[in-house]
Amino acid sequence: MTAEFFHEGDLVAVLTAQPIDRFLDYKAPEGGCHMGAFVEVPLGPRKVLGVVWGNGAGDFDCAKVRSVIRVLDVVPMREEMQLFLTRVADYTITPMSQMLRLATRAPGLGDAPSMRKVYRMGTGQPDRITDARTKVLAVLDEYGGLSFTLKEVADMAGVGTSVVKGLVKQGAVSEEDAPRDVPYSTLDPDYGGKELSTEQAVGAEALRAALRTDGYGTTLLKGVTGSGKTEVYLEAVAECLRQGKQALVLLPEIALSGEFINRVEARFGFKPAEWHSGVTMTERRRCWKMVGQGAAQMVVGARSALFLPYQNLGLIVVDEEHDTSYKQEDGVLYNARDMAVLRAAINGAQVVLASATPSLESWANVEAGKYQRVELKSRFGPAVMPEMTAIDMRVEDVPNGKWVSPTLKNAISGRLEKGEQSLIFLNRRGYAPITICRACGHQIGCDHCDARMVEHRFLNRLMCHQCGETKPMPTVCPHCEVEGKLAPVGPGVERMAEEVTALFPDARVVVLSSDLYGSARAMKAHIEEIAQGGADIIIGTQLVAKGHNFPNLTLVGVIDADLGLQGSDLRAAERTFQLMRQVAGRAGRAETPGTAMLQTFQPEHAVIMAILAGDEESFWAAEAAERKAAGVPPYGRMAGIILSSTNAQEVFDLGADMARRDEPLRRIGAQVFGPAPAPIARVRGRHRVRLLVKAEKAAPLQKALVAWAAQFKLRGELRMAIDIDPQSFY
Ligand code: ADP
Ligand code: ZN
Repeated sequence: MTAEFFHEGDLVAVLTAQPIDRFLDYKAPEGGCHMGAFVEVPLGPRKVLGVVWGNGAGDFDCAKVRSVIRVLDVVPMREEMQLFLTRVADYTITPMSQMLRLATRAPGLGDAPSMRKVYRMGTGQPDRITDARTKVLAVLDEYGGLSFTLKEVADMAGVGTSVVKGLVKQGAVSEEDAPRDVPYSTLDPDYGGKELSTEQAVGAEALRAALRTDGYGTTLLKGVTGSGKTEVYLEAVAECLRQGKQALVLLPEIALSGEFINRVEARFGFKPAEWHSGVTMTERRRCWKMVGQGAAQMVVGARSALFLPYQNLGLIVVDEEHDTSYKQEDGVLYNARDMAVLRAAINGAQVVLASATPSLESWANVEAGKYQRVELKSRFGPAVMPEMTAIDMRVEDVPNGKWVSPTLKNAISGRLEKGEQSLIFLNRRGYAPITICRACGHQIGCDHCDARMVEHRFLNRLMCHQCGETKPMPTVCPHCEVEGKLAPVGPGVERMAEEVTALFPDARVVVLSSDLYGSARAMKAHIEEIAQGGADIIIGTQLVAKGHNFPNLTLVGVIDADLGLQGSDLRAAERTFQLMRQVAGRAGRAETPGTAMLQTFQPEHAVIMAILAGDEESFWAAEAAERKAAGVPPYGRMAGIILSSTNAQEVFDLGADMARRDEPLRRIGAQVFGPAPAPIARVRGRHRVRLLVKAEKAAPLQKALVAWAAQFKLRGELRMAIDIDPQSFY
């Protein structure tokens, strides 16, 4: 390590995770410290974690400068990581202290390596031999010199822990202290590769060649669902491992990670490190530390895994790169896909963006020659893309309060006769989106948000999908107090299940919706069971659109293909296109070809036509032309400003004031739109007002935004959030 070194007493600038707007000067401690060292420093009466960021500014009374307390036993932050955090902070307009918090989200980083007791064969003889004792000794004998935790030994031997403890007392089993944070097992790039199809082999070679350039590059790996994208990018991971570099695979949803981890184990012999909200604190610390020591070769994780302290990062894969969950919508508002590209550019690493339905951003970057493109056109094995048809709802005879058209019903009957599965897709959780009083017309809303409460009949409650608030289903109207007149309006998946069960009383009908499960694991187990044939008709939300395999599924019926086309979101068409294609991709994964049927009231809508024709390139080209003409992303830049307060007048006044005093923005040719009530104008009791800023692609937007925002004081309850490249328009 060649990082700059500071001798004892030198002034150093330290970044802490405390909400202070500047670096703080300290004196380097006894023994000195490296640039990037993780340190503990005094701050008022407290001791806090910090990172040595550079030379002290020296603008503080030198006599009063305190010393760094100690240097933590952690590998110093690399210069490239400092640069990455700084760039993300500048791009997203986030204070550096928050960036550091993001980069140190593991407990006990400063603690001495903690120890735990481990057990292995000892040299002593037990005073008497029992069956239980024999089992323990046999197990330890079988594994020779290896040690295990108490629970592991007991479990392997099938005895209680007291048996093991008894043997320890007699020296027959030895007990020792070992570091808790054990390194990950070494992955073998040549362990279990599959034989690739020609197309897959060509794709894999392109990715390997990119890695061999030893520099930065991004490749869009586009391929229909089931074409083997995962197989192919695991070959890139293998190449990265061969080079002795670390690989990161980002997944959009932790629910999918279990299946993925098993595939990694089958491919490389052992499980990789995991980093997401579902892993324990102990595992988090292990992962953070091992990544920092270069002892974790591969990390599978969610967004924030980008901020782990890699020593030698060679590859970042962003799976399902179009997925909106890559945009963090809380705290630091960053898009993990875009920041992955930034991180790789700084590190000289490769990026693979994998998707069946790429984002327009990535498609445009390929068109502009910034990204390479690798394409898998056919599904692996005999499966082919489903045939797609529209069901014109204007001519179908569907009774009031029902949603399954006769055409779709016939198709489902056909599958039931053949013993094949059908999926009914509706992206609406709960029973009914609206509950209305037939006496007075009142619609039940949330007390804290401007959103309707959604009936969840399984729970027998109303729920606000905005803030999560629930209340019991009332029997009288809260407005006119008439009893028995509350009625559901519109369909949710639970209501679809009712309709479908009535149509097919003998079929096994299940609902797949994220709110029906207590844990990601329970959900995964259920999906697995359904995929194995545990249901005839699946009714699902967008949860099923993501990556799950249903080999016996041959029909997908989309209840309301028009649903996503409404609304003011500039990505509405793109999202609908992606979602419909993904859902359709669930059908016919194995030998039997599938059919996808889209119920729509506007079969001649351009997006619906493009989906049916399967003509992606013309969809992208048309969509790109529209965005270009409107000067919106990816051909222009946008920022959203959300102001909120418990006081409605206060937010509107500030919004109006900001729109008026827009000089710093006008100077770069940017325009301000608004203020307008945010699409959800009240959330958790806070009133929300939105401004949108639009600028040309090359304009220095962040600088201008900072200068603009600095003109206004946020008093009292007022909050301002700046969202660069907003994805959702809430
Ligand atoms: P995608 O990521 O494009 O959806 P996957 O990589 O998940 O596709 O592949 C779909 C299925 O086909 C998986 O079950 C995978 O194991 C299998 N598969 C893909 N390629 C091969 C191959 N070359 N040999 C054997 N099985 C394969
Ligand atoms: Zn609410």
